[in-house]
Amino acid sequence: SVPLGYFGGLGAASKNGILFKGASYLDEITKINTLVMDKTGTLTKGVFKVQEIETKEIEKEEFLNYLIALEKKSTHPIARAIVEGTTSSQNFSVEEVKEISGKGLEGKVNNKKVLVGNAGLLEQYKVKFPAVINSIVDTTVLVAIDGIYAGYVTVADELKEDAKKSILELKNFGINKILMLSGDKDSITQKVAVDLGIAEAKGDLLPEDKLNEVEELKNQLGRKVAFIGDGINDAPVLAVSDVGIAMGGLGSDVAIETADVVIQTDQLSKILMGIKIGKSTRNVVW
Ligand code: ADP
Ligand code: MG
Repeated sequence: SVPLGYFGGLGAASKNGILFKGASYLDEITKINTLVMDKTGTLTKGVFKVQEIETKEIEKEEFLNYLIALEKKSTHPIARAIVEGTTSSQNFSVEEVKEISGKGLEGKVNNKKVLVGNAGLLEQYKVKFPAVINSIVDTTVLVAIDGIYAGYVTVADELKEDAKKSILELKNFGINKILMLSGDKDSITQKVAVDLGIAEAKGDLLPEDKLNEVEELKNQLGRKVAFIGDGINDAPVLAVSDVGIAMGGLGSDVAIETADVVIQTDQLSKILMGIKIGKSTRNVVW
């Protein structure tokens, strides 16, 4: 049976928008010494805005018709930003859409084979693109039509207001390793890490790379690893970590289902609050 003190702890947490999927996680979270964090939607707001559009040998209007038609089939925050931040003049037909996890989309738009995603996606399909793409600081969405590079759109996201402060407080509290992982460009990932005071960060990762990182950490003696993420891609990592924490605001249903703890308010300060509630619950129980 579950000691009475746990119910108090679970209740206090839920009043603060921290949903523990069982009393055992209230205990587990107090043992966490390693925090692995996703970037987009976790440390950043996950609400992208279109910055720049550049096309190559195609009218911008035509380019956008292809891009928007395909992005309408995706629920990714980048896709939503593009659909909301640009306009199409024609509704092209879309067939055979395939989501390439951590990279983008492939589909038949207006009977042409279209790719929309990052540099890794175009490389996978052996589509050549200008090298200058790699030096753009914002997140870059590349487009290829029938195997030919057609241009790019850049999108940008903002840091969450409480991110820097929350990281500092977690470090001061004794979390001895904080690692940020992202499927976004490594250059952006490193910049965000510096801005937030996170010592270790890795970008250009596929969902399975994130999984490997967390599994490797878990295998290190004495490490208790929490993963904090939001996206649909994060479900496997949430499941494998000692404590999987999902940001509930924009988070996908799959991530929320897989997580052990859901932070409904999306605030990073709730991580430390959850740990503190766990600790005070322990003190009551024992
Ligand atoms: P993160 O780890 O930051 O959550 P994801 O794994 O969701 O990132 O995506 C990694 C990268 O793949 C994105 O930064 C983007 O470049 C590209 N990408 C994924 N889905 C899409 C999409 N629907 N449209 C454009 N680009 C996409
Ligand atoms: Mg994601």
